[in-house]
Amino acid sequence: MPKPLDPQTKKNLINRLSYYREMGIYDFYRQPVTDDATEEMPASAAASSPDDLPTLMTGGPLPDPPLRVIQDKPTALKLIRQDIGDCTRCRLHKGRTNLVFGVGNVNAELMFVGEGPGADEDAQGEPFVGRAGQLLNNMITAMGLKRQDVYIANVVKCRPPGNRTPEKDECDTCSPFLMRQIDVIRPKVIVALGAVAAKNLLAVNDSMANLRGRWYDFRESRLLVTYHPAYLLRDPRQKKETWKDLQMVMKYLGLKAPAKGVE
Ligand code: URA
Repeated sequence: MPKPLDPQTKKNLINRLSYYREMGIYDFYRQPVTDDATEEMPASAAASSPDDLPTLMTGGPLPDPPLRVIQDKPTALKLIRQDIGDCTRCRLHKGRTNLVFGVGNVNAELMFVGEGPGADEDAQGEPFVGRAGQLLNNMITAMGLKRQDVYIANVVKCRPPGNRTPEKDECDTCSPFLMRQIDVIRPKVIVALGAVAAKNLLAVNDSMANLRGRWYDFRESRLLVTYHPAYLLRDPRQKKETWKDLQMVMKYLGLKAPAKGVE
């Protein structure tokens, strides 16, 4: 068990974290270090004037173990994956073959968030690789992008039995890891695929008709809701509406379409 921080160190730490946040650094992990912890701090922080900084770097006590700042996205994502570990935090682990963490470009401007793995994803350990995934790939291509250009993840990382909708406590247990992934990737745009993703990310309970077709501010990104590809497979008439949503994303990201729409 780590030692609790004394109140002054805690205050210094809070100030220090807001200072990093203002500089655009979001990901912090505690790791044991053997040498001088100040070497792990960014040069920009070390070079700042002691007058405008909290005392953590300038004589105040360091927390034990000291903070290490992770600025490299693959490492930050690897640490999130390590924190998830061989997860048994909710009942979904019982039917899991593979945990489905997320896939794609760590520097993606566009991130898609789905609901949770299905049978194919569970078997392969990768999101959106089944029929719905094929349609998502078509949507991505229609936007003038490749699957490797975007990042794809789900609200829950283990397959719900029989592909049922994940329950609230399962989403609540798993979504902090998704939030951390989003904070590492920091995409310009997040597309929430379907009601489960939309409601969990936005913490609202509304119909898809009301949720889609408009922008939301979400963390450092803009977020748009559209229909889940699995729903589009059941009701292809909604592809036209989905294409309108995706065109909003393209306009915002300055993407030019090969212009055939979603097929
Ligand atoms: N549906 C989802 O919501 N996510 C997947 O990864 C696959 C299907």
